[in-house]
This record gives sequence, structure tokens and C-alpha cells, in this order.
Amino acid sequence: MVKIHEQGVYDMLNRIPVAFFAVDMTWKFTYTNTEATRLLFRSQEDLVGKCLWDEFPQALHLVFYDLYLLAMREQVTIEFNAYFPPLGTWFDVKAYPSPHGLSVYFQDITEKKRASIQKDQHYKSLFTNNPDAVFSLDLDGNYLSVNPAGEQLIGYREDELRQMSFISLITSGYLDMPLRSFTEATRGGSQHYETKIIHKNGHIIDVKVTNMPIIVNQEVVGVYVVARDISKENKNEKKLFETEKLTAVGQLAASIAHEIRNPLTSLKGFLQLIQTIMPEVKKEYFEIMMDELARIDMISSELLILAKPQANELRYGNVGKIINDVALQLRSQALINKVEIKTFNLESLPQIQCIGAQVKQVFINLIKNAIEAMPGGGAIRVVGKQSNLNLIMIQVIDEGCGIPKAFLNQIGNPFYTTKEKGTGLGMMVTQKIIHAHGGNMDISSVEGKGTTIDIYLPVVPPLL
Ligand code: ADP
Ligand code: MG
Repeated sequence: MVKIHEQGVYDMLNRIPVAFFAVDMTWKFTYTNTEATRLLFRSQEDLVGKCLWDEFPQALHLVFYDLYLLAMREQVTIEFNAYFPPLGTWFDVKAYPSPHGLSVYFQDITEKKRASIQKDQHYKSLFTNNPDAVFSLDLDGNYLSVNPAGEQLIGYREDELRQMSFISLITSGYLDMPLRSFTEATRGGSQHYETKIIHKNGHIIDVKVTNMPIIVNQEVVGVYVVARDISKENKNEKKLFETEKLTAVGQLAASIAHEIRNPLTSLKGFLQLIQTIMPEVKKEYFEIMMDELARIDMISSELLILAKPQANELRYGNVGKIINDVALQLRSQALINKVEIKTFNLESLPQIQCIGAQVKQVFINLIKNAIEAMPGGGAIRVVGKQSNLNLIMIQVIDEGCGIPKAFLNQIGNPFYTTKEKGTGLGMMVTQKIIHAHGGNMDISSVEGKGTTIDIYLPVVPPLL
């Protein structure tokens, strides 16, 4: 029978919003309050007098059993959070031992737990799905974890990396800054720097790195290293520098060419005059001189095409028509060389914004080269394609001598020529014009078989 003063305690326990039950030394329920019956979905009559482990056998294999046993045996208070799958509930549990058994207070914290798990996943996602490589290290500089982007960047899996230390990935000679920054991070500071790391297969990667402390309970427990591959950026930067250099040189050359023109005209004029008043001088001397002057003239006119491109205005132009004009213009030269120029699909090309005279020059240069590559005759095919809505593509395909692989990267370098009377400026000018129009040029060539030049031009170029 329940005594009166016990009844008072039980009434009070029934009113509190915390679940409570008591078991005796043999794990039999002696009491459950209202909240406990609600959370366990069992009535008081159902439970009192029954053994805890008979009623909730699943708990035997969970921490509940071990910890209750511990509390009872060692007579210590135990607090823990645990998930109870049969009820789908997270419980926050406090178990207080007494000489007669165990009093257990518990609360349903499923909602709170779910929110915190979600929050954890939220943060974890920043790690897992980060396109930058993220590594975590302990305070001794040993790797603890790495995200998928990190595994990809350095080629080691997380389990391999865990056997390694921070510095083993860094190229010797570049250790100073990473080490200093690591120490700084262990003191709570963060830093950015650039360094070179070694991929598992040996190649070196330029990376931009941020080191920052991992702080838990206001204490630095490790270091996060976030790294981004900048090898490509560096290459692009180099390329940009090269084009800028070329622009400067090109413009200088063009202005010199311009200055050469006038004196050249008077030289030619006086040479002709001298020839008429000095008939005793060998005719071939004059011929050589006129030839050389013509060559200077040609070089300067090719360079002049580069001059002041910004003075030109972008207009919508019909590239197909421009190419047909060029084909017509070069027809006699082609005929002499037994070369046929065929065009395909040019009518379908949309109009593009361009400087017509420059685009014309591009195709003069390309088709001339193609003719010159076929001393025994052949066919040149010029094929128009719309690559996508914003880009057109034109292929110039010849059946000429081709370009040896070793020289492919020389094409476009100023004054690179394999021709006796060549200037080696045509391809440079071509490339410059295409790039200035925001386009691109690809050369593929098979020695002895022919060359294909792909030209890509945007329909609307970025501002020149
Ligand atoms: P040039 O025509 O005055 O030699 P270019 O700049 O136009 O100067 O061309 C440079 C070099 O590239 C040529 O001398 C030639 O060796 C090579 N070349 C260019 N186009 C072709 C082509 N269609 N087929 C074979 N070689 C080519
Ligand atoms: Mg040429």
C-alpha cells in the first residue's frame, strides 16, 4: 500500500514535465510518473511490478543497460543521451542510485537532437562539398581528415594521409611559410599564403592556402588547411603577360613600319630615277634592290595591320561574304598554283560583330599559307559551322605539306617562317586579330597530309 506522505510525493512527480521511474534492486518497476507513461507508451499498471529488461528487452543491447548497471553497481549518478530505436526517440537520462534501486529521470530530446544533427550536417556539408581542398590536422601537424576535393587534389586517400604529416606534402624549399603559418594557426591566428605541394604521382601543384585554427571549447585543438589549385591561374597569368608583351611589341613594330613607309617610297622613286640616268650600272643590281625594297614594303604592310586596332569600329559583318571575297581575290594566285578553293556552308553563318578589314586579313593570311603549302596543287576547303548560339567556327583545310609537330608551337611567333620569301608575320597578325575579337585559333596538322586551322569567333565579342 502507498503511504500518505509517499502519495504526496507521487502527486508531485506526476505533475512535473520530466519523466520519472524507479526500479528496485531486481530491476522491477516500483513507480512510473505520468510523463514516463506518456513517453514510454505504457500505463503505470502495465509496468509496476514488472522487470525493466522484460518490458524493454531491446535496451539490453544498448547503452541503457550498461549505464544503469554501472549506476546501480557503483552507486554513482550517471547522465547520458541515447537513442532508443523501438520508440524512435532520443532520451536525455539522469540515473540516481539508492540503496533500494535506481531512480531515473528522462526527457524526450528528439527534436533538439534532430535540429543539432541537421546543424552538424549543415557544417559538414561545407567540408564535404567544398570545391576547395580542406584538411584537418592535429597540433603536431598530423593529418586527421580530408574532404573529397582534397583527396582529388593530392591523390592520397584519407586513410593514407592519416599516416602522414603536414610537411611531407610540401615541396622542400617551400617549407618556411607553411610552417610559420601552421604555428600561427596553433596560436589562434589565420593566414593566407602560396606554396607548392607534391601530388602522389610526383607532379608539383601550385596552391593558394589558408590556415586557420580549429577551436573547440575556446581551445585550439588543431588546424584547418584550405587549399586551392592555382596552377591553371598561374599559367593563364603567364599567357596574359605574353599577350600583353606581344601587344606592346606589336604596336611598336606597327608604328615603326608606318615610319618606314614614307622614306621607302622616296627610295623607290630615286632608285628608278638613278636607273634611267645611269644606264651603265648592271640592270640586275637595280632588280635586287627593287626586290629588297619590295620585301621591306611587304613586311611593313603586314605589321601595319596591327596598328591602332582600337581606332577601328566593330560592325556587324558577314564572315561568309568576307571569305568569298577573299577566295575571289586569291583565285588567280590559286590558279597559278593549281589550287582550287572550295567553300562550304558559309551562307549559313550568322553575322558577327567584327572589324571587317581585319577578319578579311585573317582569311587572306590563312588561304595564302594554304596555297603556299601546296606547291604541287590541290584543294583548300573552307567550311563554316555555327558552334553554338554565341560562337561561329570556320575551318580552313588544306592538303599541303603540313607542319612538323616540333614546330607547331612556333607558329605565330613573329618572324618564324620556313619560306625563302616569307615574312613570318602572317600567323602572328592572324592570331592577334582573332584574340582581339575574343576568338580562338586551333591548328592541327599532319606532316605530308595537310593542315586544318579552326577559327572560333564570338558573335558578339567582348569590348576590344
Ligand atoms: P610566312 O607565310 O610569311 O612564312 P606565316 O606567319 O604566315 O609566315 O607562317 C609561318 C609559318 O607557318 C610558315 O612559314 C609555314 O612554315 C607555317 N605554316 C603556316 N600555315 C601553314 C599551312 N597551312 N601549311 C603548312 N605550313 C604552314
Ligand atoms: Mg603567310
